[in-house]
Amino acid sequence: MAGVRTTCPYCGVGCGVVAQADGRIAGDRDHPANFGRLCSKGAALGRTLGHEGRLTTPRLHGTAIGWDAALDHAAARFAETIAAHGPDSVAFYVSGQFLTEDYYVANKLMKGFIGSANIDTNSRLCMASTVAGHVRAFGEDVVPGLYADWEQADLVVLVGSNTAWCHPVLYQRLVAARAERGTRIVVLDPRRTATSEAADLHLPLAADSDVALFNFLLAHLAAEGQLDQAWLARHASGAEAALAAAGPADLDATAAICGIDPEALLTFADWFARTGRVLTVFSQGVNQSAIGTDKVNAILNCHLATGRIGRPGMGPFSVTGQPNAMGGREVGGLANQLAAHMRFDDADQRAALRNFWRAPRLPARPGLKAVELFEAMLDGRVRAVWIAATNPAASMPRAGRVRAALEACPFVVAADCWETDTTRRAHLVLPAAGWGEKDGTVTNSERRISRQRRFRDPPGEARADWWMFAALGRRMGWADAFAWPNAAAVFREHAALSGTQNDGRRLFDISGLAGLSDEEFDRLAPTLWPAPAGTAGERLFAAGGFATPDGRARLVPTPWRGAPAGEGPTLLPNPAPLPNLTVLLNTGRVRDQWHTMTRTGRIAALLAHVAEPRIAVNPADAAAIGLAEEGLAQVQTAHGAIILRTELRHAQRRGEIFAPMHWSDDFLSEGPVARLVRAHADPHSGQPALKSTPARLAPVAAGLHGLLLTQAAIAVPPPWHWVRQTLEAGHAHRLAWLGRAPRADALADLAARLLPAGEGLEWLEMTDPARHVLRLAALRDGVLEACLFLAADPAAVPEIAVMAPSLGERVDRALLLAGRPASAADDEGPRICACFGVGLKAVRHAVVTERLASVAQIGARLRAGTNCGSCLPELAQVLRDLGAGGASDGDASAGPPPAAGVPALATSA
Ligand code: SF4
Repeated sequence: MAGVRTTCPYCGVGCGVVAQADGRIAGDRDHPANFGRLCSKGAALGRTLGHEGRLTTPRLHGTAIGWDAALDHAAARFAETIAAHGPDSVAFYVSGQFLTEDYYVANKLMKGFIGSANIDTNSRLCMASTVAGHVRAFGEDVVPGLYADWEQADLVVLVGSNTAWCHPVLYQRLVAARAERGTRIVVLDPRRTATSEAADLHLPLAADSDVALFNFLLAHLAAEGQLDQAWLARHASGAEAALAAAGPADLDATAAICGIDPEALLTFADWFARTGRVLTVFSQGVNQSAIGTDKVNAILNCHLATGRIGRPGMGPFSVTGQPNAMGGREVGGLANQLAAHMRFDDADQRAALRNFWRAPRLPARPGLKAVELFEAMLDGRVRAVWIAATNPAASMPRAGRVRAALEACPFVVAADCWETDTTRRAHLVLPAAGWGEKDGTVTNSERRISRQRRFRDPPGEARADWWMFAALGRRMGWADAFAWPNAAAVFREHAALSGTQNDGRRLFDISGLAGLSDEEFDRLAPTLWPAPAGTAGERLFAAGGFATPDGRARLVPTPWRGAPAGEGPTLLPNPAPLPNLTVLLNTGRVRDQWHTMTRTGRIAALLAHVAEPRIAVNPADAAAIGLAEEGLAQVQTAHGAIILRTELRHAQRRGEIFAPMHWSDDFLSEGPVARLVRAHADPHSGQPALKSTPARLAPVAAGLHGLLLTQAAIAVPPPWHWVRQTLEAGHAHRLAWLGRAPRADALADLAARLLPAGEGLEWLEMTDPARHVLRLAALRDGVLEACLFLAADPAAVPEIAVMAPSLGERVDRALLLAGRPASAADDEGPRICACFGVGLKAVRHAVVTERLASVAQIGARLRAGTNCGSCLPELAQVLRDLGAGGASDGDASAGPPPAAGVPALATSA
């Protein structure tokens, strides 16, 4: 269809999208990242375009003001603070959601003109360890390979990456290639996830044991004579030291450290040794660790030692979580980087940058990294901060401490599209233009620069972030340096800088794009870097050419020193005399949500897959403390406590639990799980260890359970524990009254505090005091406006999915009060297929009654899995659970290799 070609704003795959102003979305068949595919999040982008709830005007202390007044105020407060306390007393905290142009302008202002390096980004939480590892090994932060390598490899090793859920389109490209060429897939992950569905081998290694595993692999490769000595002699240094640090290839000792089967480890090592085309993909499970940089280098060592890098189907491959983490790295968005991959520790590069910008001052040393930055706000070293396109009050580790830092800081600016946990704590709130409303570029995980194009107007007075920072710079006295008329002009300057005093010393060079006219920028096709004049990017490093003084890569010794203990084994006192267990808390993503849900949490279809955050617990651990499936449990760390419902998973290692990171104050009564997470950081990268916080797990008793559906948003009063779910026609709150049940005659009062009052409502009521049951419904002209189900027995409370279709509809009163669906079609259970709205119960019913035996047959019958493909692993699991496509071990994220007949992914319509 005709429309505007742009790029998906979610993950680092960077899929091309064709968008219509009316919100219709399709995958771009010509974009080399996705060739028309979109995952469930990308396919739902059109539903995020509504202006409801958007910030539309600047607000100072809650009062609307104009842009001039807002920016004058911000400039004055920043200037005053710098005059009184120096340039390091101010900071910017920005985002991998930024376009490269936003990043470039913010970085230029802070580092070149304010004269501090205190600009960091939420990408610090995502891939800073990869940046540090790349720089140590390659001399520069460079991803050597291309997405095509995923389809050309014979062995793909996925490390710490639930690719099926977090980078779905790349995963589907891999699965499709596997169907054609029989690619072997190995998953290294403490959890058995949806990604493991396609794996030939899953090694459930213990948290943070990756370094030991890859050191063993390096030693095994040497013992098997698989090192490429000729390549090493020409292109790399440090092999002997790395091998010495790796130690002997001790299979049993390594298997014991990793907590895995020695035979399985040996199988993996042999496959790696005997396969030329091997691609090692790594992500947050590697990066988000106190030893993340060593993990990265341990992986890179194996590829460098075998010369398997930069050729088709082989190499190490970092995938970024955010859409423009790569672009941020290119312009120096991290506090320890300069723009255009220039380095703080190179005086010539600092001088080149200062001259190019005509910068009055340029710091000689790195600034505060994310965790340090919020600590500095708390202790008064940073006294003015500008936070943009990110929600650290919900996403940073020790989020409670970050909230205290925001409240302690004398001046906080927050620019965003919607109100967030962070904007609520800002003095000055600025309305930002969002996806589809501004122009610029992003770079995806394979170094491909793509355009994000504007195809609709922003609401009210919302503006692009680069525009805000440029306006701030002009007001602070640097009018000439911040005078760009549009994003194209910013990009041209960024491209020209990349070629300045470069001479091939820095691989990031896009100076060939510096002369684009506005029209050419508008038409810019997806472009790989490096792109100096007359060239186009490709794979890198097959023949050396590393960005080190001698052009050789460095193998970095990564001795195994044990899993890092770090901060925080001390837990809060246990308030409940209940059995409890000490565990490691791992956090991460679910398939259909994004970050702190400011965008995806508004879309009912995306909450129908995973409707509430659950803690995954191994059944044996759960049995040890009396935790039941769907029971409530308290997770407590040194930093706080949270209550979540459980899901028992054999796929979860014993002693480790997993909780989703997304649910924020708007969706969960205790707020985000990030409040619990420790901030212990990798010493090289500053990336915090978000996946291994010591925690205590204990069951929690609830005396009363409930379900509340309302058309209008409401605030549930304490002491209810609640989880909110967005519905097509309103909101659902799943409720639990912690502790003893209130007296039966008190239920009516409790209900009155939950349900909306209103004139002209017809009330239906059903009670059963003996069972603490109360059911109330409010109708207007026969249409359901609100309903509440309370009961001591959770089984007497209907599921949200069963009742949600009745909200805003004419209802059968008897069925409603019975807590039954208005029609059989409304009782589908969790929504597996977000694209076509197919529920779990419908899939199971069709498999059983129609004897379906493959995901292809399910797709032909129900359409599930035939669009974005994000649900294919779950469909395969249903078949196994029902014995229709293989064996079953009875849990939704575990199982042997995949069901036969996984279809090639269909492109979106
Ligand atoms: Fe967007 Fe999904 Fe593509 Fe990621 S994989 S860029 S979320 S469509």
